[in-house]
Amino acid sequence: MENCIFCKIVRGEIPCAKIYEDSEILAFLDIMPVNKGHTLVIPKEHHETLVDIPAEKLKGLIGELYKITGAVVSATKADGFNVFMNNKKVAGQEVPHAHFHIVPRFEGDGISNKWPHKKYEEDEMQQYQSKIQNFLK
Ligand code: 5GP
Ligand code: ZN
Repeated sequence: MENCIFCKIVRGEIPCAKIYEDSEILAFLDIMPVNKGHTLVIPKEHHETLVDIPAEKLKGLIGELYKITGAVVSATKADGFNVFMNNKKVAGQEVPHAHFHIVPRFEGDGISNKWPHKKYEEDEMQQYQSKIQNFLK
């Protein structure tokens, strides 16, 4: 992808503070960290969202995500951590190249995780349960 910022980082056209790299993945510090040590883990290949990444590649990526998360938490002496992904604009994705965020968290860091919650009407929960299950068949 010619104009993708993260593809440019992969190609070395834009610098980054690299944490780890192999043939398939790259991990680097987020330039505008939620907390210091905030790290992004990306597949080198351009895929927009989680479900666009081929399953085999995702397995490798998750394995590295696991190791890198441990390293971020140890290095920052974090009290906790968030690992998340924004997928598509409506969900807050600003860079359309799939990436996992690893955010170290600290007691009293003042960052709010409170999301609004909805309620299911009668039977609605079962409807959603089977609707989703149908796509797994
Ligand atoms: P998103 O909102 O798409 O889930 O997250 C994109 C993240 O990429 C943001 O946290 C943003 O700070 C980070 N980011 C955007 N441009 C650059 C860049 O050029 N270099 C680095 N290291 N991070 C970037
Ligand atoms: Zn890209």
